[in-house]
Amino acid sequence: MNEIAPMEQFSEKPVVEACARAPVGLLAELTHRCPLQCPYCSNPLELDRVNSELTTEQWQDVMRQAAELGILQIHLSGGEPTVRKDLEDIVEVAVKAGLYTNLITAGVTLTRDRLARLKDLGLDHVQLSIQDVDDANAEKISAYKNGLAKKREVGQWVRELEMPLTINAPIHRLNIENLPNIIDFAVEMGAGRIEVANIQYYAWALKNRAALMPTRAQVLKSAEIVEAAKERLKGIMVFDFVVPDYYAKTPKPCMGGWGRGVMNVTPQGRVLPCHASETVPGLVFDNVKDRPLADIWLNGQAFQAYRGTSWMKEPCRSCPRAEIDFGGCRCQAMAFTGDAANTDPACKLSPHHDAFVAAAESESAEQTPPPFVYRRMSPAKAPAAE
Ligand code: SF4
Ligand code: SF4
Repeated sequence: MNEIAPMEQFSEKPVVEACARAPVGLLAELTHRCPLQCPYCSNPLELDRVNSELTTEQWQDVMRQAAELGILQIHLSGGEPTVRKDLEDIVEVAVKAGLYTNLITAGVTLTRDRLARLKDLGLDHVQLSIQDVDDANAEKISAYKNGLAKKREVGQWVRELEMPLTINAPIHRLNIENLPNIIDFAVEMGAGRIEVANIQYYAWALKNRAALMPTRAQVLKSAEIVEAAKERLKGIMVFDFVVPDYYAKTPKPCMGGWGRGVMNVTPQGRVLPCHASETVPGLVFDNVKDRPLADIWLNGQAFQAYRGTSWMKEPCRSCPRAEIDFGGCRCQAMAFTGDAANTDPACKLSPHHDAFVAAAESESAEQTPPPFVYRRMSPAKAPAAE
């Protein structure tokens, strides 16, 4: 599963009401199965097994409940959502419920017939992730052979079927120098939008941070490339540029604010305020099998824990940006400072900021980065055969 660039979807205007409204979007992680093994995958290190996934009927019920709650967009994600044979059944119900449906896919398991069927059922949008536009590098990053050729084919089908397309390009030290070619690829595919998503260091990406971290100079150059391309491609392609936290001065309003705009349902049905929130100790994650989605959204302990601003400590508590960036990311604060209620270390006012930046600078300066730890089902959790 790849990033959905949450901070691009929310206004920077302060809000008074932080929770008395429905979420805009729901990320439905239909499965953690995926034929690729990207070392920055945002899925948790402990992946859900196939035999513990929600059933077709349970996912269909999630779609109906989401629409009743007032959710507008469903992002059908994973892992790789197309490995679920019942994807069509889930899409059909989501469309009938009036939801805008976005398929987030690596593309390699799609067929043209299946895509056409999904379109006929009413699928609104396709988001295709790419690892690089250099074959060998794409193969090295994903540990999957000939993936790029397959993605080109999928892009062609999306165009033929006249569906809107977003190219999602997670950016890191192994592909950042290819950014101009990645942008060209998206134009060639006819994408209306590209997400140039600098890696956010949670889960597998955090485990592989030293292998993925680009230098500050590379990041600054990539920002210039994006700015120039935005100008050149005005009216042709829209850019979402997810800035890298480690070289920032203020943090992103992670997920548009905790429990404020987005919810995430895992393959097993746990409902999370964000995909990395299971790394925060002390949170209770309700399951759609046990409790209605609306009740979880409004009253669930995990959603209430960091909603709004009352949980904040200094310097966030008295900061004028408290209702703009909501103190940044709780999971990053937890991972780097050991306390999820601390200010995100991406903020220059955090006492941990200098160490945070120093970690990025020293890792990115290493001439020989460590090898990838590829995203795999741990042997203890892997199904025997499938
Ligand atoms: S391994 Fe790669 S393609 Fe598969 S879900 Fe993770 S990021 Fe997406
Ligand atoms: S102190 Fe907190 S609220 Fe202020 S800019 Fe930093 S993270 Fe945002």
